Amino acid sequence: MEQAFAAAGLDWRYLTCEVPPDKLADAMRGLRALGFKGANFTIPHKVAVIEHLDSLSPAAELMGAVNCMNRVDSKLIGENTDGKGFFQSLREVCNPAGMKIEILGAGGAARAIAVELALNGAGQITIVNRSAERGQALADLLRQRTSAKADFVQLSGEHRIAADAAVFINATSIGLSDANARVPVAVDSLRPELIVADVVFNPPQTWLVRTAADRGCPALDGIGMLVNQAVISFQIWTGQSPDANVMREALEEFLEI
Ligand code: NDP
Repeated sequence: MEQAFAAAGLDWRYLTCEVPPDKLADAMRGLRALGFKGANFTIPHKVAVIEHLDSLSPAAELMGAVNCMNRVDSKLIGENTDGKGFFQSLREVCNPAGMKIEILGAGGAARAIAVELALNGAGQITIVNRSAERGQALADLLRQRTSAKADFVQLSGEHRIAADAAVFINATSIGLSDANARVPVAVDSLRPELIVADVVFNPPQTWLVRTAADRGCPALDGIGMLVNQAVISFQIWTGQSPDANVMREALEEFLEI
């Protein structure tokens, strides 16, 4: 973000602060007092921060999670750029309107992606998750609050991706910090015409991305989503478009890839 500010000739700073959960309220009061223009939030603050904001964008309200704050005058507005970042990545390989999409996971990333895809016309979204409660809640949200059809399948053993699914997304943390962690899908259900995407970006060449590519599937890693959500945050705060290549290169340098 700082390299993108510099490349755009903006004298802005982006500070990384580790805030313990019991200090979030103090941190948000401090952020108001210091006149910050914006902020990003990550685990474990994406839901908890909502009560410290003045309003939410419609998508953030639906997702029930905020990863980006934008100050407009004295009001702090919660946004969610995770889902939009993912959508932009996916849009480079297909238009998901009307498509049947399977999402593994029902946590923060899955909620953001599912809602964004539903708001952009996805036809049918199947949520596959280990915990029934979270998975069912996300499928219910999609059915009740968007025009997408949605259902829930409980993960048990190896999941077989439906033969008529066009896109399969791993939105769990499986693969984070472990390039060999296996996503529980049947490898022979990865058909060459299936678009496969992984949210995990560290390392980007996850077991799923490698296996899908070996099977001939177009495979998207989590780097595109990460860069795009930062690009969108930058646009929200500054009203300008950053050089996405500068951001991607800085990220690749940081991740040593
Ligand atoms: P959450 O903790 O909110 O959700 C985790 C999800 O993973 C849940 O659905 C959980 O299932 C599932 N899960 C975890 N371990 C297993 C397992 N062993 N078997 C089956 N399911 C499992 O995390 P987030 O949604 O916030 O983050 C998920 C991933 O997305 C992280 O790796 C994060 O880094 C990445 N991410 C990437 C972004 C990007 O820009 N590329 C942006 C945001 C997140 P259950 O409900 O049963 O516990």
